[in-house]
Amino acid sequence: MMELTFLGSGGGRFMTITQKRGTGGFILKDDVKIHVDPGPGALVKSWEHNEDPRELDALVVSHCHIDHYNDCGVLIDAMTNGVTKKKGALIGSKSVIDGIGFHLQSKNYSEGYLKRIEALKSGDSAKVGNVKIIATPTIHSDPTTIGFKFITSEGNISYISDTQYFPDLSKWHKDARILIICVTRPSHNRVPYHLNTTDAIKLAQNIHPELIVMTHIGMKMHMDGADTERKEIEDKTNIKTIIAKEGEKLLIDALSITTSL
Ligand SMILES: [Zn+2]
Repeated sequence: MMELTFLGSGGGRFMTITQKRGTGGFILKDDVKIHVDPGPGALVKSWEHNEDPRELDALVVSHCHIDHYNDCGVLIDAMTNGVTKKKGALIGSKSVIDGIGFHLQSKNYSEGYLKRIEALKSGDSAKVGNVKIIATPTIHSDPTTIGFKFITSEGNISYISDTQYFPDLSKWHKDARILIICVTRPSHNRVPYHLNTTDAIKLAQNIHPELIVMTHIGMKMHMDGADTERKEIEDKTNIKTIIAKEGEKLLIDALSITTSL
């Protein structure tokens, strides 16, 4: 059995500064506990939903935009128990690893801090416990942005982070049981370097996951009615589609995916 806990479904500047939807990313629990894309609120929402951040084994961060990365520093402090334990891994894009440098140096704990810091580019992989993490390509305004495919004890979980659509993208996420996807804008509306509903449908039709989880919903999509977009994805793909609810847990075993809410 493995578990995913979502700490919000928001993304983009206006959602981030208003917190109409949370921007805390999500936590993957298998034999290890990994926080993915800890945007603003990740620390507070972790505690609100009974996820002790001191238990984390790794932070995995797709890129250095504030809605994905903001709480990285404070979660490193939590993961290392207030910088008293040499523990945990920080795995992310080159921009994330370069950007966090000041935080690490300012603590003056260059030796006894994180156990491991790894910058990945598309095609690279890393391991945390028994979870293998494969970095996948993107086309985004932070040019070092990566997505992730997590190979877990209960199958593959894909996270398509911020990117514009490109045809090869789905090949990297084949065999995903769950497709977590940053869908920023509704159909017929587009912001450069981000996915919209139409793109999400094309990706899901090629990848055929058991479940689609929408996240990173921007303000326009929120105001226009994100559930209409969810339904459009579900109707056109015939694949169960949900919007990540804050605090929602997905329990995943070989046969089923069930939700706590
Ligand atoms: Zn971004």
